[in-house]
Amino acid sequence: MSARLLHGPPAADSLLAQVRQRLQRLSRPASLHVIRLGDDPASVSYVRLKDRQARALGLHSEVHVLPETTSQQELLQLVERLNLDPQVSGLLVQLPLPPHIQVSTVQRAIDPAKDVDGLHPHNVGRLWSGDPGLTPCTPAGILHLMDHYGLPVAGQRAVIVGRSTIVGRPLAAMLLARDATVTLAHSRTPDLHEVTSQAPLLIVATGVPGLITAGMVQPGATVIDVGVNRVPSTDGKVHLQGDVHPDVREVAGALTPVPGGVGPLTVAQLMLNTVLAAEGLQA
Ligand code: NDP
Repeated sequence: MSARLLHGPPAADSLLAQVRQRLQRLSRPASLHVIRLGDDPASVSYVRLKDRQARALGLHSEVHVLPETTSQQELLQLVERLNLDPQVSGLLVQLPLPPHIQVSTVQRAIDPAKDVDGLHPHNVGRLWSGDPGLTPCTPAGILHLMDHYGLPVAGQRAVIVGRSTIVGRPLAAMLLARDATVTLAHSRTPDLHEVTSQAPLLIVATGVPGLITAGMVQPGATVIDVGVNRVPSTDGKVHLQGDVHPDVREVAGALTPVPGGVGPLTVAQLMLNTVLAAEGLQA
């Protein structure tokens, strides 16, 4: 039997409905500022999606496009200016950054109260200490998707493949907070197959197209495919492929499609984070 598909857009719409309600109650306008360096095609496309969604909600949205050669100091100066601007509610620097810029330095420079990506060490520490402030959008969006489709979290044995700071690690903290029993696997995990096949809840965020195949999945498992990989196809065009092989559809109980699964939730959660920042969520 084929897996139930967990489509992202309906879940994202329900999150956006919450955002609209909160926006109406705000006493001052909310604004999202995104800084992008260079013209990496994936970054251009993600930033466009964020900007469009923000505008569609009536948020003030600004994209600051800087040349790829921008120095770290110039970037930090812009971050500082936006930190100090009371009109700016939310601020993020689109990743990846060119190699001459230290990502952690930039993340530390953002005011934690405006850190809508939830990557400042202050917000990371709050998440892990059980007192979350602004939290990373993709994992928060995944939890919303699961709640939307009525999938249980508490008591679940969850395996996350991928330990990045934007997906795997914060998701582990969020699942723990929701009483799941969590395993974080990564590229050095021996016998990945053994680990993944024990998981009723499997979340994959590796950037390796088709890494997880049917034989690695427990029959009936819920599988969340975070991967968005640009893969050239035989017709010369680029298409998007997840980290989960298409044959998993025949084994899993529920599965997020790529595209149209987790992606829309990430953008919707960013909108919610912007409103939370505008509401003055204490950082
Ligand atoms: P990173 O490259 O930062 O991290 C990848 C992780 O996967 C690392 O922890 C790495 O292990 C692990 N990994 C890599 N290869 C293997 C392997 N063969 N077996 C087991 N683990 C492996 O990636 P991101 O977290 O930033 O992104 C992951 C994917 O999710 C990408 O496709 C990205 O495009 C997508 N993504 C999608 C989003 C969405 O909204 N849908 C948002 C964010 C990301 P190690 O730590 O040992 O190197």
